[in-house]
Amino acid sequence: MDIQDLIHNFLAGGRDMADFEAKAEEGMRISKSFAPMALDTALDIIISTMQDPMGPQSCGLKFNCAVGRFQDAMPSGNSIARSRRFVESYPNVLRATISFLTRKQSRADHTFMMKCLEECRCDKSDIQACGSVHSSTPCGDARIFLLSKGAPVYCSIVILIDHILLVLTNMTHGKFRQAKKGVTSSREEQHWPQGPDDLLPNGVVDSVEGFNVWAADKECGHFILRLAGTIAHLYPIFGAEITRRGPEFHLGLRRPAQHLTAAMDAYDHRPPWWEPSKDDARFAIPLVYSLHFIGHLYTGGKHTHSAMMVTGGKQILLPVLLRGIGILSHPTMSSLFADEFFEMNYLMSVINARMQDSLFCLERLTDLKNQWFMVLQNAHQGGCYNVTCSSKSNVVHAQKCSNCQLIRYCSAKCQKEAWTDRQYPHKTICPKIKSLREQLGPSAWTRVTTPTVNFTFAGFKSLCTKKKIDTELLKEVGMHIACLQGFQTIYQEKNSS
Ligand SMILES: [Zn+2]
Ligand SMILES: [Zn+2]
Ligand SMILES: [Zn+2]
Repeated sequence: MDIQDLIHNFLAGGRDMADFEAKAEEGMRISKSFAPMALDTALDIIISTMQDPMGPQSCGLKFNCAVGRFQDAMPSGNSIARSRRFVESYPNVLRATISFLTRKQSRADHTFMMKCLEECRCDKSDIQACGSVHSSTPCGDARIFLLSKGAPVYCSIVILIDHILLVLTNMTHGKFRQAKKGVTSSREEQHWPQGPDDLLPNGVVDSVEGFNVWAADKECGHFILRLAGTIAHLYPIFGAEITRRGPEFHLGLRRPAQHLTAAMDAYDHRPPWWEPSKDDARFAIPLVYSLHFIGHLYTGGKHTHSAMMVTGGKQILLPVLLRGIGILSHPTMSSLFADEFFEMNYLMSVINARMQDSLFCLERLTDLKNQWFMVLQNAHQGGCYNVTCSSKSNVVHAQKCSNCQLIRYCSAKCQKEAWTDRQYPHKTICPKIKSLREQLGPSAWTRVTTPTVNFTFAGFKSLCTKKKIDTELLKEVGMHIACLQGFQTIYQEKNSS
């Protein structure tokens, strides 16, 4: 067995653990017989592979080993700041990566490119030269299943995406990096990104197309969504370009729906030993990353976003959301995936135009408190809060619970049913809402529960601090109301079809 086979088996043969470990050990033993790849060589390989992925020098296994070598050079330990400084000191790698991932390509060209990268076409006559570039510890990533042949390439890409995210998530919204003072060096050595042209070197329009093709990918499409969402958040013009194209443009709604569906299919076919976890590669990762993307797209512009959501959301996203909420409503799931559960409920409210548009807030994803605040502000907009009520109207009903003074019903019958609802009985949350109301005091309570543009999240936050509001209580109330709205939508959808 030659070294490429060994390394390939090492990367792709992870099914049988004993076999996997034996091969890993063998791969390590062989790799030690060659001089380790120099870091400069690794950087050259990483950059040149992405610049010319179909060129004669390009090889996915070599690329993977080079990324592995780059990973090895990272400072050890858990300090994010140190890792970030390390990554930032290689701006040319970041530039090559973003340029590679945003290059406009047809689907066919993309497939062909990935196929080229899967194969090792290196000249094996010089075993020493070939061995040293293939033998550094290959990199793997637990978020990618090492089953497909292209796994090494995908692992390398998701690791490079992580590097980019490490830099981007440290940036202030809309602010770019400054050029180093007094350094006349070429742009390659300067901090990344210094402006929109540097962030998206292929331009906004082509980058959207480039991401669109990558995002279709079964293995790593959701990683692309995560990256695209972060860019949309930092640079709203990019998000606006996606939403401007409307619901039929795949990157807008169909791609996230595709990856959410894949996650839920994986859940439905989970093996008997499966246990819910936040870093499960088949379910949790695609779920979290896809929702992250949809949420961040909003930054691109309220109007194009809500237009896309209302026209396409019902058809494309709503069935997926209903299915997702169904899965996450299981108690162990909803506590583990509380944010995702909430986000899906929230998206459903947006699609059903349940929330007041003017109250949408750009920063809603960065602070959970903001989500609960919006729920409280819009609680009256939900119509009747009896989950099994047949009335679909969102009007503010006159009949309200006299104890909590927040939850309203269309009739005494609905109020009675809701009190002992099987899943979300009002009697469990009512005293908590009342307690929250008392903690806030009458005038603040009115401000919090009345939809108005004059009372913003910032005002709410300082109010909570001043009145020492129990965050857990706020969360519990917010979640409960959001869940009621979600389940009501599910109930109505089920009964209308
Ligand atoms: Zn090769
Ligand atoms: Zn009712
Ligand atoms: Zn009540």
